Amino acid sequence: MTSETQSQNLTDGFHLVIDALKLNGITTIYGVPGIPITDLGRFAQAQGMRVISFRHEQHAGHAAAIAGYLTQKPGVCLTVSAPGFLNGVTALANATTNCFPMILISGSSEREIVDLQQGDYEEMDQLAVARPHCKAAYRVLHAEDIGVGVARAIRSAVSGRPGGVYLDLPAKLLGQAMDAVAGAKSLIKVVDAAPRQIPASDAVLRALDLLKGAKRPLIILGKGAAYAQADADIRTLIEKTGIPYLPMSMAKGLLPDTHPLCASAARSSVLKEADVVMLIGARLNWLLSHGKGKTWGERGTQTFIQVDIAPTEMDSNVAIGAPIVGDIGSCVSALLAGLGREWPAPPSAWTGAIHQRKEVNLAKMASQLLSNSLPMNFHSALGALKKIVRERPDAILVNEGANTLDFARSIIDMYQPRKRLDVGTWGVMGIGMGYAIGAAIETGKPVLAVEGDSAFGFSGMEIETICRYNLPICVVVFNNNGIYRGTDTNPSGGADVATTVFVKNARYDMMMQAFGGVGVQATSPEELYRAVNTAMDSGKPTLINAVIDEKAGTESGRIGNLNPQSVVKKA
Ligand code: ADP
Ligand code: MG
Repeated sequence: MTSETQSQNLTDGFHLVIDALKLNGITTIYGVPGIPITDLGRFAQAQGMRVISFRHEQHAGHAAAIAGYLTQKPGVCLTVSAPGFLNGVTALANATTNCFPMILISGSSEREIVDLQQGDYEEMDQLAVARPHCKAAYRVLHAEDIGVGVARAIRSAVSGRPGGVYLDLPAKLLGQAMDAVAGAKSLIKVVDAAPRQIPASDAVLRALDLLKGAKRPLIILGKGAAYAQADADIRTLIEKTGIPYLPMSMAKGLLPDTHPLCASAARSSVLKEADVVMLIGARLNWLLSHGKGKTWGERGTQTFIQVDIAPTEMDSNVAIGAPIVGDIGSCVSALLAGLGREWPAPPSAWTGAIHQRKEVNLAKMASQLLSNSLPMNFHSALGALKKIVRERPDAILVNEGANTLDFARSIIDMYQPRKRLDVGTWGVMGIGMGYAIGAAIETGKPVLAVEGDSAFGFSGMEIETICRYNLPICVVVFNNNGIYRGTDTNPSGGADVATTVFVKNARYDMMMQAFGGVGVQATSPEELYRAVNTAMDSGKPTLINAVIDEKAGTESGRIGNLNPQSVVKKA
């Protein structure tokens, strides 16, 4: 509270919002200042909160979302009205889609003018716009309701299936004064914001019976399992049952990717051949080919067990034979309790076949990684980064792009939980610098952001933010001169370059130098390895322009099949 308001025993909307957040253990705000929330950021900083100012709201929002994922506390993003709010909505929707808890708090214009559509400064019915893109949306009109508004936002974000929440704060509210004592009393400290949800014991038994009878069981771990922070129990479940598992992208490292039961290197065959599949915090969405089609075995021959906090997730794509609804921590410990002392190991015909498939595929990959061709291709460059992550398992890896994403996901092994942050459920580009900044702020760990040159462009200006806060982030831009690759030509023969091509041989490293960071160009795997090592040792903001063969890369990486085909002859 400022000294003036205190002396009059008054408080106001600004201070109540800050007090309500702090009371609930929220200590960091990610945002972009401006009308009407500039003072909210200033006062929050004055009151000891960490306020991280970005260059664009989308990236502040992504930082808040990943903070939520990493900490199980809602990350808070603060924006101005209409356009700033809309920029934040992309991140809000992305957080909701990925089940990350975040709260987007936006200032808004005068309700009376907005509702009569009289053309206010930055006029927009933000509450209505936000609603379809989040779990819940609230507006507070009276200072005495701020405590309730913040409490509801926190509960909505983290309870059940986590997600994004919108909190609308009209400009007028922030300046509203009220008695300081009554104000303090109006605040709510949320008790047990994400209550445990214990699974029904018959549901657990049903699942265990299925698993026990399986000839070719498989466990799939998703980012919900990583979010749940039940790391030790999940590891015990897999090791005690001896069931091979596949980690989804952001679940990599929940157990080390080098674990003998990890079936990643035999992914396509285990998905086809498994007879009982237990999903833990993973949805059967497009990333798992909806549980059907040629990725999977014949329809009807595979039985699914699904562990999820959202009851309506069950049967969303195929029948779930044994749903277990509850929070993953409680579900996994109930499964463990039900295993008993003797659990039959899966048939060795199954585990042996997986082991053999892995050996063959890993050997194939190992030889590709050693390629010494210049310019570098994805494999040789990622070979250098694979070594870095092996040597620094507690570093956080942020990853986006098309080929840069697909190759890195399969090449770079992860060793610890929640160290791999990527494009997630939407496969969205633009999360890079926001996630890197959020992760660095929340964990204090070094971050390695591996970015396609196109992906980097969506959030590239935030390298100024990285330099401004002197964050230990090393960005590696895989520069192949374009989207997918740099060799496309204009089919009309006209003067414009192809739609997928960028300026040739751009020096992204020099952008970092412009803000006082370290910029390095790397043209060989050795140079790349050395530059990343130096960056990670120094903790200095660094951007490495990794020169990749412009002929390397395929259309849309591994999801080219999602492009519709024209019936008219292709240009
Ligand atoms: P992935 O993309 O890694 O497969 P998804 O985002 O598709 O993961 O799935 C995550 C699932 O985890 C969601 O269905 C969500 O409801 C669930 N989930 C998230 N947190 C928890 C939790 N604490 N307990 C149980 N389920 C959770
Ligand atoms: Mg590219």
